[in-house]
Amino acid sequence: MKTIKNIAVLTSGGDAPGMNAGIRAVVRTGIYNNLNVFGVRRGYDGLVKGEIVPMDAKSVANIIQRGGTILKTARSEEFKSYEGRKQAYENIKKLGIDALIVIGGDGTFTGASKFIEEFDVPILGMPGTIDNDLAGTDFTIGYDTAINTVVDAVDKIRDTAESHDRVFVIEVMGRDSGLIALRSGISTGAEAVLIPELNVDYDAIMKRLDKSRKNKSSRIIIVAEGDKEGGEVVADKIKENFPHYDVRLSILGHIQRGGRPSCMDRVLASRLGVASVEGLLEGRRGEMAGLICGQVQFTPFNKAIKHIDKINENLTRIVEILSL
Ligand code: ATP
Repeated sequence: MKTIKNIAVLTSGGDAPGMNAGIRAVVRTGIYNNLNVFGVRRGYDGLVKGEIVPMDAKSVANIIQRGGTILKTARSEEFKSYEGRKQAYENIKKLGIDALIVIGGDGTFTGASKFIEEFDVPILGMPGTIDNDLAGTDFTIGYDTAINTVVDAVDKIRDTAESHDRVFVIEVMGRDSGLIALRSGISTGAEAVLIPELNVDYDAIMKRLDKSRKNKSSRIIIVAEGDKEGGEVVADKIKENFPHYDVRLSILGHIQRGGRPSCMDRVLASRLGVASVEGLLEGRRGEMAGLICGQVQFTPFNKAIKHIDKINENLTRIVEILSL
């Protein structure tokens, strides 16, 4: 096994709060272990174009509390081709970089797996995505902050909904996964939550809305963006059924990605950053560091990217029981 002296870290795919805490942990753990650490700007795009800069302890000072990623992130079409990946390999070889740590989601790990296969470069991954849709970790970096952002926004919408006796349909992020919708729905007392993993029983939702009329003056329906119908259609259907209701649609959009990472995301990113550098030094490669039941565990990329269904049916039941 080749001794690792120089490592590089990059953030890739969609940005997620806590990525900076992850970068900081990798850089400082590297320095702690007498490694030279580089930062790659704009994910795989920067790897292909050679945008790679040395990092020191100071370069990651005062970033743990900042959202986004100081290294920036991008989606790279070039890295999807063999030629692009070859160019990336030549760039890291020029700088003597022996290993990489990539922070991102399933696309990032798919690209990393190909890179390892073709060029024999040790790579470890950290789960950085607000969607929490990776296997091999209970929570991904960014998810906790994102759901707290949603909860904060929905609480504010509830105030105005209550004052005007309105029904609000609120669309939240989650193209393939309803995890943001489900947890934020429970914690904001939503009357219904619609997610891509489950078929919608409109009759049941309409009955629930009708039944709750006596007890409530506001109603909140949370819809994941990947839901088969989407927020707009759901709002239209409610209007059709209850023409006397004042129905409004609110699409939360990109505010869900930003903001200061929560304590949980900072600690998660710090733990996984330390574990990733130590894992590389122990000879690990092709795996994602995650936290399962409070313990750091490594999961091969090909297993981590499997879209396992993390929807706990008990949580969907809770929404129904508590929405009387
Ligand atoms: P998020 O969950 O936030 O979307 P992600 O890591 O899944 O994050 P993607 O845009 O899917 O985000 O992937 C990030 C990058 O990984 C892509 O821009 C591309 O460069 C690389 N990548 C994705 N799929 C492949 C693939 N099949 N082969 C090679 N590289 C890939």
